[in-house]
Amino acid sequence: LTRREEYYIVILGLDNAGKTTLLERIKSIFLGVLGLSPDRIAPTVGLNIGKIDVNRSRLNFWDLGGQRELHGIWEKYYSECHAIIFVVDSTDKERIEECKEIFEKIITNEEVEGVPVLMLANKQDLPNSLKVEEIKEIFNKIALKLGARDSRVLPISALEGEGVREAIDWLCLRLQ
Ligand code: GDP
Repeated sequence: LTRREEYYIVILGLDNAGKTTLLERIKSIFLGVLGLSPDRIAPTVGLNIGKIDVNRSRLNFWDLGGQRELHGIWEKYYSECHAIIFVVDSTDKERIEECKEIFEKIITNEEVEGVPVLMLANKQDLPNSLKVEEIKEIFNKIALKLGARDSRVLPISALEGEGVREAIDWLCLRLQ
């Protein structure tokens, strides 16, 4: 019997992007348990953790606090992570500049050099959401700084679960 490979994945993004909802959705899809109904989850204030087993891998998700004053604590987790999920609220056009700044800060951090980055264009169930092509366009210039590392932008609805399985599949392929 071989031991499962352990992988650590950080979930980052501005507050209200949908990080907590995403983690709950991942758990409900892969563990078959539904935690709190997404409406009732308070905005992330600390660290939420989720573990799922996929094939021979154990994926440990860290949903880090999205509030500005908490960004300092993210760095502690960088050095140990195997992948980064960056969640974008596709409907929040007003904070897109802030979102770009944070994203750039994350991907240019030396601790995460070469770590695969999955950007999730969340809230695709809402009619006013930017589509994945528009999100790509917006992050185009910054994405150049990713260099040769694995990266992808995928559309999801964390609330409805659309695209979440595909997102985890993409991650699993990069981790093995
Ligand atoms: P966090 O601060 O990044 O952890 O964000 P939350 O997971 O707390 O979500 C913030 C708000 O956005 C909540 O009201 C969620 O129900 C809502 N939300 C999250 N994901 C989606 C989504 O895919 N679609 C819609 N319509 N709402 C979402």
